[in-house]
Amino acid sequence: MDFSNNKEKDKQLFSFEVFPPKKDSNIETIYKTLEELKDLNPDFISVTYGAGGREAGNSKTCEIASIIKDKYNIIPVAHLTCVNSSKAEVDAELTNLKKHGIKNILALRGDIVPDIERKNDFAHASDLINYINEHSQGYFEIFGACYPEVHVDAPDIITDISNLKKKVEAGAGHLISQLFFDNGKFYDFCEKARIAGINVPIEAGIMPVTNKKQIERMVTMCGASLPSKFVKVLQRYEYAPEALRDAGIAYAIDQIVDLLSNGVDGIHLYTMNNPYVAKKINDAVRNLFL
Ligand code: FAD
Repeated sequence: MDFSNNKEKDKQLFSFEVFPPKKDSNIETIYKTLEELKDLNPDFISVTYGAGGREAGNSKTCEIASIIKDKYNIIPVAHLTCVNSSKAEVDAELTNLKKHGIKNILALRGDIVPDIERKNDFAHASDLINYINEHSQGYFEIFGACYPEVHVDAPDIITDISNLKKKVEAGAGHLISQLFFDNGKFYDFCEKARIAGINVPIEAGIMPVTNKKQIERMVTMCGASLPSKFVKVLQRYEYAPEALRDAGIAYAIDQIVDLLSNGVDGIHLYTMNNPYVAKKINDAVRNLFL
């Protein structure tokens, strides 16, 4: 990631994540979101990639990342998954990204979904990272994902961190964490990762909870633990949507203040394509990034 134009390298980062609109919704909706997010001046915006790999070579991810770069002059990070893709499909997407001048990739395995055909070319994100490096002569900067509360497929944190180290050794120069609601879990994870010799920046993934359905889905998917303070918020405001949204924003701000004052490398905000929420959080914490 090239910060030469807009950031000193050792500053705490503030980045956002967006996702392409669902197939049947209008692509224009994401332009409106980006239009508002750009005013918040993030260090980069990452764009998720669909689970199937079916759009490889012509993905919405690449299209949106190009707009982030060309229209808003913000560094884009394009997510790329591999478990459902063949080498030919990955090649097509890498060529597409290169053609559009996208240099940063968050290289992921992707979830193993029963109704999507699994291809056998890549088993882990580290295989994808090795492949990108072998085939792109250093053109791409590679990011990886990490899991403060252990990835669901891993038997324990020690195994998961040792697998994470393989990913970093393969060339992931920057890690972004899964969402979490208990900062203590993140600090424990970072300590163990550092002891294991993982020395690349680790950004903390924060998802502001703005509705109850969202939290239920996320927790089932990623197994994040819910501190009692957080559960009380959910219980108290579950039938008051505006109150829940505001309490979710306040909870995220509280988490971020604690993380920044503990010197984390950066905050990666899962914006859920909601610029209102991103703006509220940005306004509250922007001056705390040192
Ligand atoms: P890996 O790093 O391959 O790890 C997966 C499992 O395999 C872990 O249990 C790990 O311990 C184990 N493992 C890893 N390497 C090895 C090895 N060499 N040998 C043995 N075991 C190993 N999904 C999408 O579909 N699209 C997205 O855009 C997307 N964006 C994401 C962004 C972030 C920040 C995060 C945290 C997740 C994202 N995901 C996305 C979800 C992600 O695809 C899933 O969590 C997936 O299950 C794991 O992906 P990974 O890249 O972390 O896998």
